[in-house]
Amino acid sequence: MQAACPFCAGAIQSSTYAETLHCRAIYNRAPLVKGHSLVVPKRHVTRLEALSSVELTDLFGLARHVAALLLVAFDCDGYDLSLQQGASAGQTVAHLHAHIVPRRPNDLPHGDWHTQLLDSASRPRLSSTEMAHHVARLRALFARSAAPIPPPVP
Ligand SMILES: [Zn+2]
Repeated sequence: MQAACPFCAGAIQSSTYAETLHCRAIYNRAPLVKGHSLVVPKRHVTRLEALSSVELTDLFGLARHVAALLLVAFDCDGYDLSLQQGASAGQTVAHLHAHIVPRRPNDLPHGDWHTQLLDSASRPRLSSTEMAHHVARLRALFARSAAPIPPPVP
């Protein structure tokens, strides 16, 4: 619990529509599209790495359940699941939250963010050498790193 955090405040109860032991699903107060929801851990953590394995499983289990429910409730055929981690990624509330945005074709007025940013078809390709460099570097880093040690669940 953190003072002034909107996801720790008691008022979050009024927007909560599903709950597990460690997480809750809330309706977004300013939805991007109908059904736009957030899955939020009950414990105040800023980043995904701070979740215990149990909390992590709980968060993604609830996200899966909520997504399936939203597709039916809002007659959609897809959804975006998005986590912003850190200010540079657009995280505006320092309490971890996953956005679930039910989607329909052409539902956003300014085009789709994933076609503009995530789809790789229009971006320059790495050379085989560049690709091998990045993969080798990350393999070495990964081999030397331990999985993040989750803090105990209070
Ligand atoms: Zn909080």
